[in-house]
Formats: sequence, structure tokens, C-alpha cells
Amino acid sequence: MNSRLAMHLSPRCTAISKRTKKSCQAPAVTGWSVCRFHGARGGGPKGTRNGNYKHGEATREAVEDRRALNELLRASRAILSDLSRDES
Ligand SMILES: [Zn+2]
Repeated sequence: MNSRLAMHLSPRCTAISKRTKKSCQAPAVTGWSVCRFHGARGGGPKGTRNGNYKHGEATREAVEDRRALNELLRASRAILSDLSRDES
């Protein structure tokens, strides 16, 4: 493209077409690397505003908290078993 218009110089979508295997090249949505067809913005509301929200145990935050706690428990169990092995 030889145009020097600002709209043609804007960042382009980085998505690759499944059909043609070529990059999309449509203008990317501001703050995103992809265009509006390729997943910029959109998605359902988070947390209690989502229609599928039940109890909050599966929210990203809750899962992350559980993972962190389990990691801490695993590490402390490993340290404790190391200590008890050293004593005997
Ligand atoms: Zn695109």
C-alpha cells in the first residue's frame, strides 16, 4: 500500500487467517494487537456480573488463591520432611 494517510499507517491486526493462512492486516483496535473481528474487546462480564456465576469458587482470583496456597503447603511439607530426615 503506497498511501501515506494516517488511517493506513495505523497498527495492523496480527491475526493469521485460518482460511488463507495470511495475516489479517485490518486496522487493530486501539490498545490491542488484533482487529475487532479477531477478538479485541468483547468477552463476557467478569465475576458476579457474568450470567454463569454460581458461587465464586471458579473465578480467576479464587483459582489463583488456591494455587498459591497449595504451592505454599507443598513447599512447607518438603521443608518439614527434609528437617525430619536430617534429625534421624
Ligand atoms: Zn484481524
